[in-house]
Amino acid sequence: MEKVRTRFAPSPTGFMHIGNLRSALFEYLVAKTNKGDFVLRIEDTDQTRYVEGAVEFIYDTLKICNIEVDEGPLNGGNFGPYTQSERLELYKEYANKLVESGSAYYCFCNEERLDNLRKEAEEAKVPFMYDGHCKSLTKEQIEEKIKNNEKYVIRQRMPKEGKTSYEDLVYGPITIENCLLEDQILLKSDGYPTYNFANVIDDHLMEISHVVRGNEYLSSTPKYLLLYEAFGWESPIYIHLPHIVKEGGKKISKRDGDSTFMDLYNDGYLPEGIINYLALLGWSPADNEEIFSLEELINKFDVKRINNSPAVYDVKKLRWVNAHYIKRLTIEELLKITIPHLKENYDLSSKTEEWLKELVSIYQNHISYGKEIVEVTNLFFKEKVIINEEEQEILNEEGVNNTLEVFKQEILSISDWNVDSINQAINNTKEKAQVKGKMLYMPIRIKTTGQMHGPELPNTIHLLGKDLVVTRLNA
Ligand code: GLU
Repeated sequence: MEKVRTRFAPSPTGFMHIGNLRSALFEYLVAKTNKGDFVLRIEDTDQTRYVEGAVEFIYDTLKICNIEVDEGPLNGGNFGPYTQSERLELYKEYANKLVESGSAYYCFCNEERLDNLRKEAEEAKVPFMYDGHCKSLTKEQIEEKIKNNEKYVIRQRMPKEGKTSYEDLVYGPITIENCLLEDQILLKSDGYPTYNFANVIDDHLMEISHVVRGNEYLSSTPKYLLLYEAFGWESPIYIHLPHIVKEGGKKISKRDGDSTFMDLYNDGYLPEGIINYLALLGWSPADNEEIFSLEELINKFDVKRINNSPAVYDVKKLRWVNAHYIKRLTIEELLKITIPHLKENYDLSSKTEEWLKELVSIYQNHISYGKEIVEVTNLFFKEKVIINEEEQEILNEEGVNNTLEVFKQEILSISDWNVDSINQAINNTKEKAQVKGKMLYMPIRIKTTGQMHGPELPNTIHLLGKDLVVTRLNA
């Protein structure tokens, strides 16, 4: 088999969302499971939708995720340039070849004429399709119009009968009646190609063997195949990926406030966790395991196991996966993704580095992403705790007041405030108040933290500090 080459071809029209990154990952995996090349191509031919900074965003995201680009705008390669706006001459050249061979034609129809056609289609309640008005212009007519500076586009001449089929590796056989295909624009009047044209030229010239992309291109792929045919080129293998939807079936979108990769990253999700989770969106390994590194993924990945039903983006699952990676962090790494969030939300000026370290480390197994540290540690940054009904019921039980009073005396008598002495105070309370288990720990935890669950009680009390603990016991 020839060398496997895949490409990630984002348009810099916005900030890389989760779906884009999932495509990049699958493209990377298809290449790497076959020891192939992963190419980055920037598809910036729609200049009206260009977003400043989006290209840098793409580079940064791939880099943070360890998805290494073998060829692309930054590192070059043998098939450059890798940015479409730098390849305009190529598209012109190939569009003209198609005109010469009769597979494409000049179209001079102006916006007004096209608008009228659209209106007519709307009134007749049929889908709009260009009517082929310019497809039989003579050479002389064309020359005349060009001489008069009339604007033109180049359109693909679609066959009016027959069918076009291909085999998608995920969706199986796809067939379209050619009469349903519009004579689509290949080259716009500003000299820029459309996606529909550029993707074919570039995938061919860059020797892409497998095209991996979202399934929104599933039904337009026959048009591209007709272009390959017109040029006499071999087409690549197609792998269309299922949509990512939210629970309820809606498409993920930034506009609805759905997170981009960077949003997640800035909230203290780990790139390894995000990548691991994204791999599960539309794919699962044969052994049903769910936690794997990028390395392991490369070994496990198999295109045949890509599922064609919509993949549901489930934040709970993402957190569950990410929590696995949080647990593996060193204390330094953990501090890095949590302290900025604490700083942003609380006054840390009186806290020592030691204290912060201890705080963050007792919560390592309790958070699933960095920013979550803020809500779970709230009890350390306020004086009063709020006791809910369920907690109050426990505090109302017989003997609890006595237990808490005994515990308070034990706490007051501690001279050296550390986890051991606090542990001792709890043990002494057990002896003196004659309570154990839940009836010992629960009232103390509720009264001092306002919660029924949390990290180890002695550590928590240690971090709260003697004064605050006594204040809360007195309350
Ligand atoms: N530029 C296209 C997009 O961002 C790429 C589609 C493809 O991978 O061919 O949707």
